[in-house]
Parts: sequence; C-alpha cells; structure tokens
Amino acid sequence: MCALKCTDSPVAYPAARDKARGALLGLAVGDALGATVEFMSPDEIRSRYGIHDKMTGGGWLYLRPGQVTDDTEMSIAIARAIVDRGTFDIAAVAESLANWLIGKPVDVGSTCSQGISRYLIKRTLEAPKSDWHAGNGAAMRMGPVALASFCAPENLGRWSLEQARFTHNHPLSDDACLMIGQLVHAALAGQGKVGMYKIARSYPEFAFEPFNGKAGGYIVETMAAVLSSFFDTDTFEDCIVTTVNLGQDADTTGAIAGLIAGAHYDVNSIPRRWLGKLDPKIREELSLLAEKLLALGLSNSKIFQVLD
Ligand code: MN
Ligand code: MN
Repeated sequence: MCALKCTDSPVAYPAARDKARGALLGLAVGDALGATVEFMSPDEIRSRYGIHDKMTGGGWLYLRPGQVTDDTEMSIAIARAIVDRGTFDIAAVAESLANWLIGKPVDVGSTCSQGISRYLIKRTLEAPKSDWHAGNGAAMRMGPVALASFCAPENLGRWSLEQARFTHNHPLSDDACLMIGQLVHAALAGQGKVGMYKIARSYPEFAFEPFNGKAGGYIVETMAAVLSSFFDTDTFEDCIVTTVNLGQDADTTGAIAGLIAGAHYDVNSIPRRWLGKLDPKIREELSLLAEKLLALGLSNSKIFQVLD
C-alpha cells in the first residue's frame, strides 16, 4: 500500500486524502449549518429549534438550505489561487480574494472587506498592524494553506502569516492561524486527539478548559469554542452540533470546527444529510481542491517519502 512518510510514523495516502476532503467539506458543512443561527444566543436557538442540527438555511442572511457564506467562499478563492499557481503566492491570493469581493458575496466581515479594499486601492499585500484586527476572519480561511503546507511546517509558518496579514495584522490572529494549520497537519498525519491536544495546549491564549460559553467573533472566543467542542465530543456530527448551538458567530465557529474535525474524522464521517444539502458544484470543487492542495503539500515537502 502507498504510504507517506513525513511524520514520525507513515500515513496511508488514501487516509490522508479522505482527511483532506473531510477538512474542506467539513468547513463548508459547519459554515452552512452555523449560518442559520449566527448572532443568536444559545437560549434563542433552544427555544426556536430545540437542538439545531438540520440544514434549513434562513438566518439573518436568508440563505438557501445548505448555502455557504464568506468563510467557505474565501477559502475557495484562496484554494483556487494556490492550485492555479502550483504554490502559495500572496499576490495571486490577493487577486482571487479581490475578484470574490467584486462579485458581491452574500456576506463579508468588516475587517476582510477593509483589507481587500485597501489592496484594490493601494495594491499593498499586508494590512498595517491594528488593535482591531483580533477577529476570526483570517483564521476561518486557513484550510487551503493548511493542506498545501502539509509535511512542510516552514511553508505553513510563512504562508499562514501572509494570508492572515492580507486583512488581519494582529498577534492573536497570527497565532490562531498557525495553530489551526498545525492541528490540521497533525490530523492529516493521523496523530489523533492526543497529539492535537498537545498542540492546542501550547497556545495558552486560547485556553478552553474550563470553557466560558462565549463563541463570538473575537478570535480568543472563537478558538476556545472550537477547541472545547472538538475535544469534548467523539464524532464529527456531535462536534459541529455542539459548536453551532453555542450561537453567536456560529457560521465561523462551525466552519473552523468543521475544518479541524473533518481533517481528524475524515470525509466519510460527515453526515450525508448535510453533505447532500451543499450545492453540488461547491461540493465537487471542494473535494477536487482538497486533493490538489494535499498533493502540493506532499510535493513541497523535503522530508516526504512514498513508502511501498
Ligand atoms: Mn460567514
Ligand atoms: Mn461569521
């Protein structure tokens, strides 16, 4: 069997591919499920839905069932740029995100919108440092960089900062992006929750034990909500349901939880009733992009070997 050697122990290729697909499709599913209850409180969700676990669409954006938002769309824009160029190039990523914004997306966060607008006017690729940039808008689009830098931690370090600082220039956002990338790498490598927990605990600013129930757009809250839900549950479905029922920035916590949990549990663990509600074009593109990004990650690695 074909196996990869880029970690301490070999990883079977089909397993890594299913995990990469799980990451991007998990992101989309978490985004679409969470968007219905974005900005609601847990009590409001409970009184309206009991437990929210169906792809009903709606929400403040009046979405179709299964429709994704900016979290997934920005990830697709970045993924396309990486795949087209055959590597991560911030100039190509910037252009792809600018085209996305010009296309009048269904939603866009204010810091992302400001950052892309700055690029359109000044053509600069990095936002100036700002105390206001500790939102989750850069972290939510880390999926493509995480996959494309698999087995190459030095690429993860550089690319995650470049992609993040295009719109968000804040140390907490930087750290969240790096942590998400490391968690996805560990998941793809099959390190399991023990290895992933060590990574999460090495970022004390995102402490999640005990979890305070906050799940807003401030990256500290977003990451604590995601990590708490991921480590407290044992299936992809439970992780995402737990996450989005916290409400608040539910599409984004759902998206990041979906990315990490999808990479850990793999694409076959995502409920079919959720996958089936995604736009088939988006579903197929995400699956193909995941495979191509993973292939790039493997080809960019100096320490990758195929084992027979
Ligand atoms: Mn969104
Ligand atoms: Mn959001």
